[in-house]
Parts: sequence; structure tokens; C-alpha cells
Amino acid sequence: MILRRALRRVWFAIFLAASATLAFGSFYLDHVMPFDLDRPPNFLTKYHLQLLKREPLRCMAALERARIDFQPVLPEQRENGCGYEDGVRLLKSEIDYGGRILLRCPAMLALLSWERHVLAPKAKEYFGRKLDATGQLGTYVCRSIGGRSGRRLSQHAYANAIDIAGFTLEGGERISVLRDWDDAGAKGRFLRDARDGACHYFGATLSPDYNAAHANHLHLDMGLIRICR
Ligand SMILES: [Zn+2]
Repeated sequence: MILRRALRRVWFAIFLAASATLAFGSFYLDHVMPFDLDRPPNFLTKYHLQLLKREPLRCMAALERARIDFQPVLPEQRENGCGYEDGVRLLKSEIDYGGRILLRCPAMLALLSWERHVLAPKAKEYFGRKLDATGQLGTYVCRSIGGRSGRRLSQHAYANAIDIAGFTLEGGERISVLRDWDDAGAKGRFLRDARDGACHYFGATLSPDYNAAHANHLHLDMGLIRICR
């Protein structure tokens, strides 16, 4: 009986210590060390981006500090659950996305961090050139996972995901997920490094290694499920 009571106290103390650490960590990340798009990723980056889902003003401030050309978008909530509250439309970045893409603010920060700290340096490293464009297949689409009825809503339905089919280098040369994923040369290595680098920012990063549904694109999303494959 006494032992059980002592154990309960120990568990309670552990719970209190963990909660205090978490609360302090959140406060520290959000208020003392605001998200900086120029900062290379560390072990807290993913957690910080998830925290920003509850801090739209701080998230928008991070985009503004980074001098990103973007436009906040009015919230949308549909009856079937699709929608977003903190949507932003990207007007311009270093890479052309073939249109003004719409994402929730933390997903946009993740995308731009990936562009800055993974795509740009890897393009320089493997090809000695700049990346001109990204071939994206869509961001916000009100649909279920895999587009099949009966399944839960995809992260695309919350403007929390983007699909990337490939890239175009300065000069026009293309790198395609479908064609070059298994390439043993620079194109294949670039694509696999791009996938691995996305895992520092996004919750789920799915590539052709995950399943056949992703043979032609990388799916990057800011959901809570962690997958990097
Ligand atoms: Zn997708």
C-alpha cells in the first residue's frame, strides 16, 4: 500500500516535470527564439513548426521577417471538414512553383526552409547550378487520402500538404521523380537527398520508396503522423 502510494507520487512528479519542460520549451521556442528561415534545421525545428500551427500571428511574422512575398488568405471552413484558418499564398520565392500556391502558414515555412537549406545547396553541390522551378502537382484539394471515399481526409484537405513531381535546373534541364528516382547518378542522389532533407521540416515525407501511389511525386505534409520514407 505504502509502496503503491510512493510510486504514484513518483509518477506524478515525473508528469509535472515533463509538463513544465514542455511548457518552458514551447515558451522558449516561440518567444525567446522565434522561427528564423535563415537558421539551418536542428532537432527542435520540426517541433517548432508544429507549435506554430497554434500561433498564426507568430508564423506570419516569421514569413515577414524573412522578407517573403506572400499574401494571407481568408479562412475557409467547409461542412465536410475541409479548410484552413491560417492560409497564405506565396507570390514569389527563389524557385518558381508554377503558380501562386496556397498552404497553411507553418507548411509554407517548412516548404521555404526546405527550398533554402536543402534544395538550393544540393542543386549547387550536384549540378553547380541554381534551381529554377519546382513541378508541383497541388497543395489545397478537398479530398480523402488517396482520393478514395470512406477514408479520412488527406492533409491536402487542410492546405497542409504539397506534392512535388520534379525540378527544373537553371538552363532548362529537368529532374523527374518518376524517371530519375532510381538513377545512380547526380539526379537520383539529388532526389533522395531532397526527400531526406524534407524530413527535417515536414511531419510526413512520402517518396517512391513508400508505395506505388508515390512513384511520380514526393508528398510533403505537416500532419502529426511522422513518416520519412
Ligand atoms: Zn500529396
